[in-house]
Amino acid sequence: MFIAGRQVDGEGAPVPVIEPATEESIGNVRSASPEQVSEATAAAKRSARTWRDTPAPERGEMLHALSTWMTDHSDDIAFTMTREGGKPLVENRDEMGWSASCFDFYAELARVERGRVVPSGEQGQLNLVVKEPYGVVAAIVPWNYPILLLAWKIAPALAAGNTVVIKPSPYTPLSTLALAEGCAEIFPEGVVNIVTGEGDVGTALVADPDVAMVAFTGSVETGKKVAHAAADGMKRVHLELGGKDAFIVCDDVDLEVAAKGAVWAAYLNGGQVCTSAERFYVLDDVYPDFVEAFVEETKRLVVGDPMADETDIGPLVRDVQRRRVEDQLSEAKSQGAKVLYGGDREGFDRGYFLRPAVVVDVDESMRLMTQETFGPVAPIARVGDLGEAILRANATEYGLGANVYTLRLDYMLRCMDELEAGTVWFNDPLTDNEAAPFGGMKASGGARELGPEGLEEFRQSKHVHIDTKMDVKSWWYPYADYVRYQAEHGTAPG
Ligand code: NAD
Repeated sequence: MFIAGRQVDGEGAPVPVIEPATEESIGNVRSASPEQVSEATAAAKRSARTWRDTPAPERGEMLHALSTWMTDHSDDIAFTMTREGGKPLVENRDEMGWSASCFDFYAELARVERGRVVPSGEQGQLNLVVKEPYGVVAAIVPWNYPILLLAWKIAPALAAGNTVVIKPSPYTPLSTLALAEGCAEIFPEGVVNIVTGEGDVGTALVADPDVAMVAFTGSVETGKKVAHAAADGMKRVHLELGGKDAFIVCDDVDLEVAAKGAVWAAYLNGGQVCTSAERFYVLDDVYPDFVEAFVEETKRLVVGDPMADETDIGPLVRDVQRRRVEDQLSEAKSQGAKVLYGGDREGFDRGYFLRPAVVVDVDESMRLMTQETFGPVAPIARVGDLGEAILRANATEYGLGANVYTLRLDYMLRCMDELEAGTVWFNDPLTDNEAAPFGGMKASGGARELGPEGLEEFRQSKHVHIDTKMDVKSWWYPYADYVRYQAEHGTAPG
């Protein structure tokens, strides 16, 4: 782990890191003991004042330096991410690039302003809204994009002047620990700390009195626990939770392009993306041809060794995750759904592989259409018109992202207005923009990352009211004078 600028071994139980492609252990990472969690938060707290007083351009230089360090070590860390997470190497290289870029973005954004000046009530006064960091931020992240989701939190948090304690997923701690080497070279002691372990370490971190804010990405289920625990300590919480993104295909599309886009949106990272397209609503006229094109595209995908250049889809992260996906699939089948392709382990006797599945005859009575699947399954439903597609797209507790394929402006405007999602992508699925906010509505959380909104989440506002004169105000005591003045003049003194 990484506490107060030093690499230290955890004093808790060892947790094996399993390579999903081979099911073999590639190392053991010891968990933080409760005392070590406290040491990490105390170190972050000790360095908080100096870090917030460090001029923003200087903090920015350090963020740029970390970005450069990440670019220099991109291949090694991407390799580690592939071994411990199972995501294809090509996707992990992209992840390293996006993450480095996020540090550059916030290095610059945070030096532009730290609040605003608002009009005052009187001459000789100055009213400021000053933005301040919260203090110690706990950053708790999942395994599917271990470095990117970390960057989306700690880049704005550090840029805003907070110090951080990171807890990676126990499935993917190695890449985060590798990043610690860069942090050790660049940041002053205590500014960035990393503790490893499972949910109990996360629980201890959220409850720790030195932690002022918890920035969490993970499932809705865990997010609720984090929110409850944080409420007990009146801590600021920032929640990025699960999704069940809808993908609407309208009747004016180029079917070949739409099917290729849809297949990518469904199976990227084996469907283990919070914004994976997990439900397809296809307008009546194009439904049969779309399904056919989708199946053909899916058949072409190469499932296998995530290190190989030709691999499109690697294994799922763990067997428990694969079984969860298989359960949803078999339950849907028992309710009348039909699997047109995949959804089995054919050709794989080791590794947590699952061939991508295309499923039809689905409806919202099935968990497959309402609960997050987080696996390579594409259920495709036929809808009568766009109104029905939007209604069904909105009929879940989640509200993370949504995709629409159409070139009709009237369709676009309607979807833009009516879809209950934090991001709506038209004809270019899952393309984030670091200058624009990412996050969910409804049970998907409500926090925003990226863009100026993503910086704002890590700053609190202080109103500063300055009067440059030292005069007695007419509305102070004695009230008798104040009341008399109002009675005589019919108005309060100016
Ligand atoms: P998870 O909720 O099981 O765990 C997330 C993190 O929380 C892990 O580090 C875990 O160890 C920790 N944790 C577990 N119990 C805790 C507790 N009681 N208190 C504090 N921390 C605790 O999620 P996961 O399986 O690692 O990740 C998959 C989930 O993450 C999916 O639901 C996915 O949609 C979601 N996700 C959301 C986004 C987003 O930006 N909205 C992005 C990626 C993933």
